[in-house]
Formats: sequence, C-alpha cells, structure tokens
Amino acid sequence: MGSLSKQTDNYQLQETRLQEKLQDGTTRCHLCLWRCRLKHGQRGFCQAHVNRNGTLYNLSYGILSAIDISPVEEKPVRHFRPGTRVMSIGSYGCSFRCGGCHNLDISWGVDALDNLARGESTEAYVSPQQMVETALRHNVQGIAFTYSEPAVWLEYVLDVAELAKANGLYTVYVSNSFVTDEALEELAPYIDVLCSDIKSLDQEFYTDICRMAKVGDVLASIEKAHALGIHVETRTNIIPTRNDNLEMLRGIATWIHDHLGEDSPWHITRFFPAFKLAHLPATDSTTLWAVHDVARQAGLKNVYVYDDKGCDCAQENLPVAAYLDESEEAVHQVKKCHASCCGDEGILLKKYEVSDSPK
Ligand code: SF4
Ligand code: SF4
Repeated sequence: MGSLSKQTDNYQLQETRLQEKLQDGTTRCHLCLWRCRLKHGQRGFCQAHVNRNGTLYNLSYGILSAIDISPVEEKPVRHFRPGTRVMSIGSYGCSFRCGGCHNLDISWGVDALDNLARGESTEAYVSPQQMVETALRHNVQGIAFTYSEPAVWLEYVLDVAELAKANGLYTVYVSNSFVTDEALEELAPYIDVLCSDIKSLDQEFYTDICRMAKVGDVLASIEKAHALGIHVETRTNIIPTRNDNLEMLRGIATWIHDHLGEDSPWHITRFFPAFKLAHLPATDSTTLWAVHDVARQAGLKNVYVYDDKGCDCAQENLPVAAYLDESEEAVHQVKKCHASCCGDEGILLKKYEVSDSPK
C-alpha cells in the first residue's frame, strides 16, 4: 500500500481543506460555490461542515452511506477504461436540493449528519487505507465518488483518491459541478474522470434547486476540469416539462461541442418520478431519442441514451458492512470524534439558517 502523511484510523472531525478564517471569527468555506460564511456553531448549507471556535471541520470524513460495484459504464462513463469494474462510494450531504432526487436519504443526509454532530451516529467509518484495501480485495479497477455530492466530502475524497492512484486504481468523480476552481485544482492530480451533470441551460431551473447556482458557473467549472486535464463526460436527466425543451437541449449539445469537443460523450438519462416530482411521468423513449438526434445534428459524435436507467443509485443496496472486512458490530459502533478538542460542548448543532445565508 502507498502511504499518506495523514493517517486517520478512527473517526474524528477533519479540518475543512479550503477554508478562509476571517477577522470577525467567521470562516468561509471554499469547497463549493455556496462559499458559506459560518459563525461558531453553524453548519454549512450541505450540513457536512461546522465552524467550531473559528475553524471549520468536516463531519463526514470516512463516513460511508453506500457502496456498490458495477461496470464503469453505469456511472455513466463510456470513454475511460471500458469493460472495467468500479467500486462506488458515497457519504452524506449535497449543495443542491433537487426536487427529483432519488438519493434523498443519503444525498441530503440531514438525519445522518445530525446524528454525527450529536455523536450518536452508527454509520460505517472507513479509513482511506481500509477503503482502498476493500477496493483491491474486491478486484475492481477504480473507485467512484458518487451518490451524494463529493465536493462537500473533499477531504476524504482527496485522501482516498491519492492512495487509490498510488495503488494502481483509477478514480471517478460524479458531480453537479457547483464547485470552486480551488477545489478542482486540488482534485486534478488525483481524479481521472469527472462525470458531471448539465441539468439545464435555463437559469430558472438551477435557481429552483439552488438559489446560489448560476448556469454559467456550473459550465465554467466543467470547462475548468477539462482544462486541468481531467477526462470529462456529461449527463443530462431529461425531466418532462422541466428541462425537455429540444431547443434548450440542442443548446447543451452545442455547448459541449464548442467547449469540450465533438468527441466528448453526452449521456441522456430517463427521469423516473421521485420526491417533489412524483407527479410527473417518466420520460418516454421518443423524447430521449429526439434529444439524441438534435445532439447529433449539433455535431456531437458520442451521444448515449439510457432508456432504462435514471440517476446513479446504488443498484444492489447491500449493506456497507457487507463489503468490509469487519464484523457488523465493529462497523456500526457509535461514532464519536476521536479528538479531544471539542470538550464538553460537543459539536454544536445550530444549522444553516436563512438569516445567516452566505454573503
Ligand atoms: S455548502 Fe458545504 S461545502 Fe459548500 S461552501 Fe457551504 S459548507 Fe462548504
Ligand atoms: S440529484 Fe444530485 S445534485 Fe440534486 S440533490 Fe440529488 S444528489 Fe444533489
């Protein structure tokens, strides 16, 4: 096994990687484009980072919500190591609140993150070393960070990805691309593939799922990843009446063609009703193939239609412990931060509040 300078064998809060300590005791997080400015006790929009006495910490380092093994094509990634198998892992927390999200329990993960903050969580903790050993033991060729938004889990993603690369595994990062340039620069040496959503070109669509998100910023992040040398594949989940306008979708195809190249793969997935969008029908095949045709007309050479598959959910839903080389009891012991710096106060629970929104 390759080695890391910082070894973490037990669950504990990790200092947030990209933070700016401000003079008034608040701290700004620069992992995603929320750039939350937080006071002592406050947690960011994602709920996964907390300010304690002027320093930001990640609550979810090493905490896994799901593991699955699948062909890399299911991420979906088609033009990187085809025919190989990848171990997908995710934690809790997302920078968006999509009305049609299929992964709510783990993507928002509000209850799981609250339990971590209270020191009452029984979620699986897996050190980076254990994670990479698990992947090697299952004979996969890569590790994918997915299910929730990996930008809010960057500390762990970086440690695992560095170790994975040192041990001959490739790495895939499945993202909404609401991320900062700084985060992408940290990731670039260790991430081989970005599979990114382009959800729409309509600003209203993005505002609805995240009031801070600008279409231009998301596209700029994807282009930045491409410029940094990360292999980029994009995906759009076609939601009836929400983002199925063919001219807008032609616009996405044209943007990919002009900014990522005519060979850049675009994955078109079927929407399945969920959560706030449970009243909408699943996307019909005719629509998906019409999108395919406009993309081909726009000059894209690699357009893939997924008639049978929506978002990137864990397929098997085996318990996380099933993949680990430990007893269920050991995996699900109560997680309390191993460090002693929190003192009696514990991890404060005050959540992100509208009146304290990032400025
Ligand atoms: S949402 Fe989370 S990851 Fe994003 S800036 Fe806020 S605290 Fe950081
Ligand atoms: S669909 Fe993706 S970006 Fe949207 S809330 Fe779910 S995990 Fe987050």
